[in-house]
Amino acid sequence: MDLGIEGKRALVCASSKGLGLGCAEALAEAGVDLVMNARGAEALEAAAERIRTTYGVAVTTVAADITSEEGRIRVLKAAGALDILVTNAGGPPPGMWSDWERDDFIKALDANMLTPIALMKALLPGMIDKGWGRVVNITSQSVKAPIAVLGLSNSARAGLTGYVAGTARQVAGKGVVINNLLPGIHATDRAVALDTAMAQQHDMSIEEASATRAATIPAARYGTPTEFGATCAFLCSQHAGYMIGQNILLDGGATNATL
Ligand code: NAP
Repeated sequence: MDLGIEGKRALVCASSKGLGLGCAEALAEAGVDLVMNARGAEALEAAAERIRTTYGVAVTTVAADITSEEGRIRVLKAAGALDILVTNAGGPPPGMWSDWERDDFIKALDANMLTPIALMKALLPGMIDKGWGRVVNITSQSVKAPIAVLGLSNSARAGLTGYVAGTARQVAGKGVVINNLLPGIHATDRAVALDTAMAQQHDMSIEEASATRAATIPAARYGTPTEFGATCAFLCSQHAGYMIGQNILLDGGATNATL
């Protein structure tokens, strides 16, 4: 399917690895020029060079912490005018409800709620002026069904979801489409970190922890960044123009709900 976005320009945050990289690759395959970001320069440059060589698109890289104001200023300055924004950052650590203090919540809110909001506030005016734009926020399945050990994530992402629900409807009439993409378990470094935490907690191997978690998913496996990226590219495409403020769950059926 021609996604109709060849020649557009996208910022994909936190995209040297994992789900962000999956999104960057799928957009590049659709002919979109990219601004890619991550904190570590080495993996970022390697991913960017592979994408340039494979897809022939222009890729600008900015090594910066997207959750810091200084990082966002540098990324936005290098990016210039954009048609597509994919927000993403690392997720907060797991724990117990009693572990988290005010500072832990502020950090999670900064990373997973206020950073995507700041990026949207910076970039939506340009998209509105052009009469065309796409925003995809990478959130989590925890928005639909809580993951108890990820209370910081549950809280921060719920706040972002509420903001998007209203904002998407305020800008839809200007040709700007905002949706959220909710990953369930995907095979990335983040999944390995959570498998490792579970293995330590339950005195099992990482392979056993991974198999135990996969067994809870009707699809009986973890998702892949490629599958995730393909859905993201669709949400950024011309075809998604009537899809406003939705929360799209990609979890292999793990969330047991009819709607
Ligand atoms: P990942 O494989 O660990 O990759 C994270 C990517 O983000 C890396 O490129 C990392 O590079 C970059 N990054 C992290 N923090 C950053 C920051 N502050 N500024 C800029 N770049 C940053 O993680 P993932 O699995 O793709 O997860 C992406 C998001 O989806 C996370 O928020 C995660 O909580 C959420 N999620 C993932 C899953 C899953 O199963 N994978 C499920 C639900 C939700 P640097 O370290 O070099 O910065």
